[in-house]
Amino acid sequence: MITIDVSVTPEIAASPEALKRTAANALQMPVGDIVRIDVLRRAIDARRGRPKIQLRLGVNADKPTPIFDKKNYKNVAGKPPVIIVGSGPAGMFAALKLLEHGLRPIVIERGKEVSARKRDLALLSRQHSLNADSNWCFGEGGAGTFSDGKLYTRSNKRGNIDEILQQLVAHGANRNILEDAHPHIGTDKLPAIVSAIRQTVEDCGGIYHFNTRAVDLAVKNGAAQGVVAADGTCYEGIAVILATGHSAREVYQLFDRRRWLLESKAFAMGVRVEHPQALINEIQYGKACRRLVETGLLPPATYSLTAQTGGRGVFSFCMCPGGIMAPAATSPDEVVVNGMSNSQRNSPYANAGIVVQVFPSDCRTIDGASPAMAGMALQQATEQAMFVAANHSQAAPTQRLADFVNGRFSALPIKTSYLAGNTPAPLHALLPDVILQNLQQAFKQFDRKMRGFLSSDATVTAIESRSSSPVRIPRDPASLQHPQLANLYPCGEGAGYAGGITSSAIDGVRCAEKIIEKVVSS
Ligand SMILES: Cc1cc2nc3c(=O)[nH]c(=O)nc-3n(C[C@H](O)[C@H](O)[C@H](O)COP(=O)(O)OP(=O)(O)OC[C@H]3O[C@@H](n4cnc5c(N)ncnc54)[C@H](O)[C@@H]3O)c2cc1C
Repeated sequence: MITIDVSVTPEIAASPEALKRTAANALQMPVGDIVRIDVLRRAIDARRGRPKIQLRLGVNADKPTPIFDKKNYKNVAGKPPVIIVGSGPAGMFAALKLLEHGLRPIVIERGKEVSARKRDLALLSRQHSLNADSNWCFGEGGAGTFSDGKLYTRSNKRGNIDEILQQLVAHGANRNILEDAHPHIGTDKLPAIVSAIRQTVEDCGGIYHFNTRAVDLAVKNGAAQGVVAADGTCYEGIAVILATGHSAREVYQLFDRRRWLLESKAFAMGVRVEHPQALINEIQYGKACRRLVETGLLPPATYSLTAQTGGRGVFSFCMCPGGIMAPAATSPDEVVVNGMSNSQRNSPYANAGIVVQVFPSDCRTIDGASPAMAGMALQQATEQAMFVAANHSQAAPTQRLADFVNGRFSALPIKTSYLAGNTPAPLHALLPDVILQNLQQAFKQFDRKMRGFLSSDATVTAIESRSSSPVRIPRDPASLQHPQLANLYPCGEGAGYAGGITSSAIDGVRCAEKIIEKVVSS
């Protein structure tokens, strides 16, 4: 197979025949000699208002890229058990890696399986009734299940990313995630993929325990032997992978109570900004490209923005073109917002988290708690303040972006895509200073980079507070075990070692590999 990079119009990119002609031209060979073309990578260059599609093409390949073969998984019934707490991306991909090497994953999950979880999400959006064990963050598949399913990561270890993408395709994801520079699955497709992964684990002899919240670790002679569930059952294994995500505050509280090592870390908080998608298309692609978007030749436009203000970074996060905003609180007295989109990305809105770095020095230690818990306390207090601003409901506080930036308030009703409704509120008077002032400055900078960003149609909704964990559960860099608790592998986003679906999945694989190494060498 010969690999070439080409930059073509959206029309050519959409036509296999035109692509063959482009490749033949580039390689100076007859079109008839090309057996098949594989698109290996796809990216959009929207600069200068004339979008081009940049493609890496595999020309004349004999057979398509092979997909991970499920035959690599072993039957693990009766094999040594490894307890995995949490069935999010970190837990799921750790389980799959253990299957490949003959260890038996026992997955402990506080939430419900995916279809029952959907009903709780509907209740939360429509009736504001929040189930603390089954919501947008908790339940089968973790916070990734009803997410946007964007699969980008800043990690540059391509081999690891390919392994995750291959596994997703083997469990039902569209093959195009293997070629897109910014792969995306969509919230309508993710639940079936998550269920297919569970099916694989169970078919091979692994076990899932739903509605089972871990409340303690079983520890003997300085080593984790298993976990204790809320009903008192102890699940024992040769190792414990703790992959509970960044919203499992009880897990941090458990560590704090037991005086097991925890560390504070920088995190980020801010708002979710929303524009009409048509406006973002116009800013990014130019007015002339409207038809290309309407006919599907160009996808809804995205953006990625950063600013430095007051010595800290402000950046866009989880931008959802054609998306909707979802209520992501995990406790009934908080408001938290996040974003997602379906595979078609066809809502009329574009939303993104715009968050400000928060450092441990910004946070006040709470009496009696370890300083490591201070960030979580600020995060929780801000979420609770938003609940009060929402008149004790899940209808999140919202303000027009221009009013927010100019520090003025109008109580006019505002419509956004947020599933649980909005409460007009003076966010400029409610957010902690460190967040407010830096956001206001950054939005002005963003408007200079994307003319029209500060549109009167744009809104901000708060609070976007769960973009990363405010606490780290430390681990030895070589063995990945907790420094005080042998056989305990803090893992994924909640332990502070990942951010997003792909990097959490990669971290799950890393922890599983360390357990496998230990078993093989003992
Ligand atoms: C609405 C939304 C949209 C998002 N969109 C994207 C996106 O497009 N792309 C992206 O990369 N990231 C996205 N994210 C973030 C992404 O989902 C997380 O980064 C990722 O899921 C973290 O994986 P994890 O396995 O470390 O933890 P989680 O996914 O948080 O999983 C932790 C699991 O542990 C379980 N658990 C917690 N405590 C306990 C306990 N005590 N006992 C038993 N089980 C427990 C939870 O129920 C949960 O299932 C989104 C998040 C949300 C909420």
